[in-house]
Amino acid sequence: MTGKHDKEKGVNVQVILRCRPLSEDEIRLHTPVVISCNEGRREVSAIQNIANKQIDRTFAFDKVFGPTSQQKDLYDSAIWPIVYEVLEGYNCTIFAYGQTGTGKTYTMEGGGRKKNGEFPSDAGVIPRAVKQIFEILEAQNAEYSMKVTHLELYNEEITDLLAPEECTKYADDKSKKPIALMEDGKGGVLVRGLEEEIVSTANEIYKILEKGSAKRRTAETLLNKQSSRSHSIFSITIHIKECTPEGEEMIKCGKLNLVDLAGSENISRSGAREGRAREAGEINKSLLTLGRVINALVEHSGHIPYRDSKLTRLLRDSLGGKTKTCIIATISPSVHCLEETLSTLDYAHRAK
Ligand code: ADP
Ligand code: MG
Repeated sequence: MTGKHDKEKGVNVQVILRCRPLSEDEIRLHTPVVISCNEGRREVSAIQNIANKQIDRTFAFDKVFGPTSQQKDLYDSAIWPIVYEVLEGYNCTIFAYGQTGTGKTYTMEGGGRKKNGEFPSDAGVIPRAVKQIFEILEAQNAEYSMKVTHLELYNEEITDLLAPEECTKYADDKSKKPIALMEDGKGGVLVRGLEEEIVSTANEIYKILEKGSAKRRTAETLLNKQSSRSHSIFSITIHIKECTPEGEEMIKCGKLNLVDLAGSENISRSGAREGRAREAGEINKSLLTLGRVINALVEHSGHIPYRDSKLTRLLRDSLGGKTKTCIIATISPSVHCLEETLSTLDYAHRAK
């Protein structure tokens, strides 16, 4: 599924695969590796040879990033062109999909912190996208306005990560007032009560992001790893003033959604214990619906089931039509993750 073909049909979905390296613990324990990545051929193979269990499967993707790939490599070759399109007036969405612990957050946010104004080499997709957007706007000397939203979707309920402290209530809090999703009558959705912050510098966005991920981290410790079961959606909307050669003024609008999805292991654990059952069901609903929506878009099906989950309703104006979508599927090379890895490879592969 590559460029030209997509443009003719008006659908642009890219699926890229990233395999993380073994962790120090895994190396110390001599954990067997069952994944091999061929970046040149854009293929990933899962191979296991145990007497009663033989697995040898190969999957092709638009791009493959092996365990030694750096944040910058992934960004420059796969993400940069997409973010560029946002400034051309496209709505674009970048998803990280995969089992918990495979590098979704590392890929999206990155490991490091900005130290004395410097950009760390392990900065992820989000800070790099912010940097790129401001660099291009400055180079074009563009007149623009920009706003961001940051929300979390947990159990089909929205938490506003930009809301002032006293308003931030997590799903287990009974006093929580859910934020409402409403159709705007023009094919899009309105999120009633969601904070939008107007921003004009990259640093303002970095601060907002830091606050948001601090909130997610607090919730994670309070609620036993909530973040692995919630989707985080950070969106940047940009309006750019343009002049036609005839001297007419025009406003170009683009939107970038950066989505750190819930851990995909929840998909295969629908038979979870009591209290977790509804939760697993809801996570399934949005991840499965996302898969179906992307499939339907790629296959030009007449019916796109956006309405079947909040995640796809929220992103409706950025999936299908004049939009670009990129799924970064993340996997672990370890033998212990093989089953989940195969289900991620299957999901990501089907989305192509
Ligand atoms: P997830 O968000 O999918 O649950 P994380 O991003 O938290 O996973 O990654 C789990 C651990 O693995 C973290 O300690 C992270 O720093 C490390 N990690 C993930 N991907 C990479 C990578 N490509 N290179 C180096 N370390 C990585
Ligand atoms: Mg994470």
